[in-house]
Amino acid sequence: MKKTNIIGKLKRKFKNLFSNDIGIDLGTANTLVYVRGRGIVLNEPSVVALNEKTGRVVAVGNQAQKMIGRTPSHITAVRPLVEGVISDFEITEEMIAYLINKSQENSKKLIGPKVLVGVPSGITNVETRAVRDAVKNAGAKEVHIIEEPMVAAIGNRLPIKDAIGSVVIDVGGGTTDIAVISLGGIVNSKNLRVAGDKFNEDIIQYVRNKFKILIGEKTAERLKIDIGSVLPLDEPLEATMRGRDLVTGLPKEIRINDTHIRKAISQSLILILDAVREVLEMTPPEIISDILNRGVFLTGGGALIKQLDVLLSEVVKVPVYIADDPLTSVARGTGVVLEDISDFQEILIQDEDGISLKE
Ligand code: ADP
Ligand code: MG
Repeated sequence: MKKTNIIGKLKRKFKNLFSNDIGIDLGTANTLVYVRGRGIVLNEPSVVALNEKTGRVVAVGNQAQKMIGRTPSHITAVRPLVEGVISDFEITEEMIAYLINKSQENSKKLIGPKVLVGVPSGITNVETRAVRDAVKNAGAKEVHIIEEPMVAAIGNRLPIKDAIGSVVIDVGGGTTDIAVISLGGIVNSKNLRVAGDKFNEDIIQYVRNKFKILIGEKTAERLKIDIGSVLPLDEPLEATMRGRDLVTGLPKEIRINDTHIRKAISQSLILILDAVREVLEMTPPEIISDILNRGVFLTGGGALIKQLDVLLSEVVKVPVYIADDPLTSVARGTGVVLEDISDFQEILIQDEDGISLKE
């Protein structure tokens, strides 16, 4: 090994003793934590269990998720991020503190971490401030904020800094974020509150109307993932579903297929397709020609619904690619940015003082 390599390695080791760089994908459905040098160390549902009597957080993430529907009445499970935005500041703060702590469990550092957080595009200044404060109060030494479509693009190694248009469509739990990126900025974007969660609600509603059966959110999500497809398949998919018969009040089991799921989610799907079309219509002609050549990138968990890429490419008439591992694009992107944050300074969201918050 060359001498310079050894010195570089030693320097990095030394630096790691003191500093800890953390990337957080604060998703509506899942929160991921990336630690520089270690990769994704946490991937948990964005759920917090609260004791209503004391107002205290009882559990976070997987543990809290397990409590849903099984808790005594004074313990409620809440999702602090509704539609991509912090709905409960204190709970979010506790969740972030828990995540930062947990991600450092075996490697306590001398100083608080530098934290990079992804937020939905189009977030207001007030909301940005809330995220910044929540992370800061949770123990971070430095807080940096970046728009999720941008960081997802970085995670997928798209040439965001070049004069080439890239499109990212992030179908998450609470929101779908559509963004056209060029020269390190978001040229235009749209954030709509229709995504994976809405599909689940649609399925619950459809099953209730069609079969007069009540199913829970978990069941609906399972059906969506297992047999949901936005286009008819060569081999139809079927599943057995259990719920409560609304007429008799008793448990009932029925068979359901991909056509049912497709019908259930069709209205929401149209809203997403329309939004993509709108964003592309607003896009300058030079960039459109890049998009025709290079296609658009689908990411977020919702990108995994079967045939969405095919349908989308038929509707908008451009090639559509699903990101590698769409559920981790944002977290991996934070990892790339943390490698050399100064290189991404102009891409980060600045606060009112015009600088990323530093102490
Ligand atoms: P967020 O960033 O808002 O936390 P994610 O990108 O983690 O959202 O995506 C979560 C959403 O993706 C959920 O609605 C989940 O049901 C959905 N999802 C995950 N896997 C699949 C799949 N294989 N098919 C369809 N939807 C999926
Ligand atoms: Mg997301």
